[in-house]
Amino acid sequence: MRDRYAIIGNPVAHSKSPRIHAEFARATGQDLEYGRIEAPLDGFERAVDEFRSQGGKGLNVTLPFKRAAFRYCDRVSGRARAAEVVNTLVFGDDVFGDTTDGVGLVTDLTRNLEVVLSAKQVLLMGAGGAAQGVVQALLDAGVAHLAIANRTLSRAEALAARFPGVTSWSYDGLGGREFDVVVNATSAGLANDAPVLPASVLKPGALAYDMVYGRDTPFLAAARAAGAQACDGLGMLVEQAAEAFLLWRGVRPETSGVLERLRAG
Ligand code: NAP
Repeated sequence: MRDRYAIIGNPVAHSKSPRIHAEFARATGQDLEYGRIEAPLDGFERAVDEFRSQGGKGLNVTLPFKRAAFRYCDRVSGRARAAEVVNTLVFGDDVFGDTTDGVGLVTDLTRNLEVVLSAKQVLLMGAGGAAQGVVQALLDAGVAHLAIANRTLSRAEALAARFPGVTSWSYDGLGGREFDVVVNATSAGLANDAPVLPASVLKPGALAYDMVYGRDTPFLAAARAAGAQACDGLGMLVEQAAEAFLLWRGVRPETSGVLERLRAG
């Protein structure tokens, strides 16, 4: 029987992960099968138990189960412990959890988009699972300062308080502040919405990055109109998938061709 993996979430019908992992498997000569599991909102643990009992080797975890996945694990990586979320499960003698979103984002920014993060002023919008998963990786990349802004200020405050030097903001409160890189980790773009940012926030030549992918979000459109470079999160998706593949199979697939083909449709 071929080793089995899947993406688990709700919804997952439109996930690009099966296509990405099928391409990785072909390119690296790995014999595996990768499917999708749409778990009921109250049925994450049951669905994972069932997949494991059928011999499943690992899962990618997406909305809204990344915190539930963290709780499901016997062991987690240091970066998952810092984030308190897990997006990759590895099933062996026990259940190991990791989060590859942070390294995926930083790899896309630094390798694919050639952004130098060290000494940069960075704003992270949002305080949900996606934002939690990338804070440590941005700090490890040497940013000068990381600010977190969120619609519900208390969530930004709670997230920032876990990391020394990170500050928390309401969107209004950012007036007069300037950033080199602004990462939108909110889900607002999915509803064709965007948090309203003060005009000062994007420095001339800044990069505006939206983790939402496959559509031109209001955040990206506004950033482009303000003269910023704008990029969606497709590269992050591919890079975090490559890190998960590495955890499962011990080989990190080449990503640029996959990313190009996904962009081409
Ligand atoms: P989540 O845990 O549900 O958090 C959603 C966040 O968005 C919260 O901070 C929420 O603010 C904010 N938000 C939602 N609607 C908003 C609006 N209209 N205006 C302002 N803020 C709004 O979701 P998540 O797991 O963090 O995921 C966020 C997004 O990142 C999703 O779209 C997901 O697809 C994307 N993502 C992409 C990748 C990738 O590889 N490209 C990886 C992970 C996630 P409140 O706290 O105030 O509710």
